[in-house]
Parts: sequence; C-alpha cells; structure tokens
Amino acid sequence: MRPVVLCFSGLDPSGGAGLQADIETIASLGSHAAVVCTALTVQDSNRVYSFIPVDSTLLKAQARAVLADLPVTAIKIGMLGSVANVQVLGRLLANYPDLPVVLDPVLAANSGGILAGEQMMEALLNLLPRATLLTPNTVEARRLSRVDDLNEAVHILRARGSRHILLKGGHEPGEQICNRLYNEHGVVRESHWPRLPGEYHGSGCTLAAAIACLLAQGQSLRQAVELAEDYVATVLSRADRPRDSGQFLPVRIKP
Ligand code: PLP
Repeated sequence: MRPVVLCFSGLDPSGGAGLQADIETIASLGSHAAVVCTALTVQDSNRVYSFIPVDSTLLKAQARAVLADLPVTAIKIGMLGSVANVQVLGRLLANYPDLPVVLDPVLAANSGGILAGEQMMEALLNLLPRATLLTPNTVEARRLSRVDDLNEAVHILRARGSRHILLKGGHEPGEQICNRLYNEHGVVRESHWPRLPGEYHGSGCTLAAAIACLLAQGQSLRQAVELAEDYVATVLSRADRPRDSGQFLPVRIKP
C-alpha cells in the first residue's frame, strides 16, 4: 500500500485549509491520507466565523481505529480544537514513539480568525516533545514562546522538546519570505521566496501535510522540507480565488 499519513485537522468548508488541504496534498504527492476530524469550523475563504471541537472520546476512537488498521508511517497535526483533544492525542502518540510527527501549531487562520484560545498554549507546548518537526509561523512562534525575539522564541520551543523547527517567515514584512529550519545546533537550512500578491488560505496546512507525506515516503527531513516548499510554491502560483477581494485557494490537484 502507498505510505499512509494520519492527519489530525479541522474541517474547513471552504476547502482551502484543514482536512481538505491534507487530503489533496498527500494524494497528489502519491500517498494516502487517513484523516481524523478534530473540529468543525464555520468559515469561508476569507474569515473564520466559529468552530466547535469534536468530542475528545470521538477523536480517540477515530485515531485508534485507523492506527489499528492502516500502516501509518507519519503523522500530521493541525488544528486540534480543544485542550482535551490535545491531551488525548498526547497520550495516544506516546504509544507510537517511532512515528515521525509534523506539528503545525494552528492558532489562527491567515485572515486572523482565532482557532485556538489562550488555554491551548500550555497544552500545545506539552505536545512538543513528540514533534519531529514544529512548523510555526512567526506569529505562532512568538505567541507560543511568549517572547518577541525570534531567536529566543526558537530556543524556548526547542527547549520544550521540539526536535526541529521550521520557522515560516510569511508574516514578516519584506518582498522576500524567509523560512528557516532549525535543529539543536541552530539554522540548518534557509530558503527565500518572492512574496506573491494577495493572501492565501491553507498554505501552512499544505506545507505541513507535504512534509509529513515526504517523511512517510522515506525522505530525510531536510529533503522533505525542500521538496514540500517547492510543492507549496507551485500550488500557490496557480491558486485561484472566488472573489476579487478574497483570499486565494491553492490548486493542489492539477485539473
Ligand atoms: N486548519 C483549519 C481547520 C483551518 O480552518 C485553518 C485556517 O482557516 C487552518 C488550519 C490554518 O490555515 P493556514 O494553512 O492558512 O495557516
């Protein structure tokens, strides 16, 4: 069977982010996505209006059924919806210490809509020791670490247990976007991307899902990040949008 990536994400009915981003990304990169729904969101391509988390016992049951049945080789974690869901997932992952985990600490949508409240911060920090790779943008890195300086933020997040960190620079000013991959020795890879005009919905989900998928296929972490960043650049370059003023939705599967 194709490598299986187990994804924990919310449902975004606009189809730009969350579960649909995971499924489309992983399918188009040649693997199979098994998806555990963590929350139902109400949103369009522009705004998050509200969400309700899935009950944590249901999350546990969904995950256990899949893990008992499918040959899962990597895990991708996105929006989790509630502290109870983070805690259940933490306990579950303790039983699978060898599976690579890509943790996208989703705190807000690109539009700014809040997807994780204050009480989620500590819960997410407790999950970091299980993260092979944490993929915060700079806003998330600052909020999670509670410091403004990004080097210090990375240091704090690494000290909380995340083995590698991919710090995404899209929210910083400038014509170029800089992403930095860190391990325990510091920056091991830096990539620069021209800033595309407009706002994009689901770019972070797409990147984390692509990295998890490539890890599931046996790529090294560096190679997975490199190939996944190229994939994201491609799907964003052909993104379309429902309204002139709206956010772009990545085109992950070529028509
Ligand atoms: N997960 C869900 C369910 C979402 O609805 C969103 C944003 O709307 C995200 C994750 C984060 O999206 P992005 O990849 O744009 O950061």
